[in-house]
Amino acid sequence: MDLIFKPIIQKCKWRSGIIRLTSKSSENSDNIDCPKTEQNFSLPLCLEYTKDGLIPHLTWDLLKYIPDKNVPALVSLGSVYNLLPVLRSCDSSFSEFISSDFNRSIFLTIQDVLVNRRQGFNSPTFTPIWTESGRQNIYPIDLIECVKSLKPDFYHLLADGETPKNCSNKRVDKSVENTIKLAENSFGIKDFDWTIKPIFGVIEGGWNIEKRLTSIEKTKSLPVDGYIVDGLLSTDLLDDSNGLELKLLISKICSNLPDDKPRALFGPLKPERVIDVISSGIDIIDSSYCAYLTNNETALLVDINCDNITNITSNLIRLSDDNLKEDFKVIDHDCNCYTCTKGFTRAYLNHLMKTKELLGPILINLHNLFVYYNFINQIHSYFNSLQQSDSRI
Ligand SMILES: [Zn+2]
Repeated sequence: MDLIFKPIIQKCKWRSGIIRLTSKSSENSDNIDCPKTEQNFSLPLCLEYTKDGLIPHLTWDLLKYIPDKNVPALVSLGSVYNLLPVLRSCDSSFSEFISSDFNRSIFLTIQDVLVNRRQGFNSPTFTPIWTESGRQNIYPIDLIECVKSLKPDFYHLLADGETPKNCSNKRVDKSVENTIKLAENSFGIKDFDWTIKPIFGVIEGGWNIEKRLTSIEKTKSLPVDGYIVDGLLSTDLLDDSNGLELKLLISKICSNLPDDKPRALFGPLKPERVIDVISSGIDIIDSSYCAYLTNNETALLVDINCDNITNITSNLIRLSDDNLKEDFKVIDHDCNCYTCTKGFTRAYLNHLMKTKELLGPILINLHNLFVYYNFINQIHSYFNSLQQSDSRI
């Protein structure tokens, strides 16, 4: 798999452009007649968050109701680790394991981006993950084997990102040191074919910009194809009081990374935070915010000003609240999602949540993902209009 990254830095510093993933359609990649498959994704690219190899509460088929344009799926190693023996014995990729019709690329991440890391298990020689059968320590050599079995389209190096916002400077130092050591150990493995590409380097340093710069300097010297800004835990990303600090931190980090490689930040981001991080230089995010809301019986509403995408407001409706049990409106009468256009009332959704019916989170997640990806697509349209106005000047 090749990754071609063509960012366009707008006059206002936003990064539009495309990420292109290309692969030979045959194992024989030396054959020049072998046709290539090619997928182009506009920036910002919002990966489809998965847990245990599926979109929370939905079947893959239901994604036909989501305007996500077949974006790659974000798959965490812990959630599929127990499948590795099956994949090895059948010599199948994870995509082939899901379905012969599965047409999405896979980004393999080490940790579930929606789950806060457990503390006290990190090491400079391995990264702990939690699987169905408990904790597994993943060494660089294990990562190679996992990648060979799962055959993701892109992935990242091992890291120590256990840096909650209130952790000590000593813990942040250790996180940076451990992550650098893990990267050095990875590239130092004899005979390992790090040409399994594309691979992303990991930037750690918690909320401390000096530690982030140290991590950046070391990681920039590695032969990686992109960067992940790691070490920002989901609870800290969801805390509104961290919004301004997050924007400043991301801006400082991204201004010190090479312009010609993509930067990813994974974790639950409300629409206002999405605007903050992509206007600060992030290219790739994921849809885990929708799963977070749906798990909390909550629907997302986004009020977008198409002339100025930074002028955005999001609101939430908790569908299990008692005051909705006689509310016969849909979640949002202006929404074109399956749930709203089919007329499912807030009262009915309230009933489904109260009775723990599986249909409840299905209908809510369909709405949430539709709203989130519609918002991402509005950003793409906004970028197009900026590009046209820039070219007219
Ligand atoms: Zn809707």
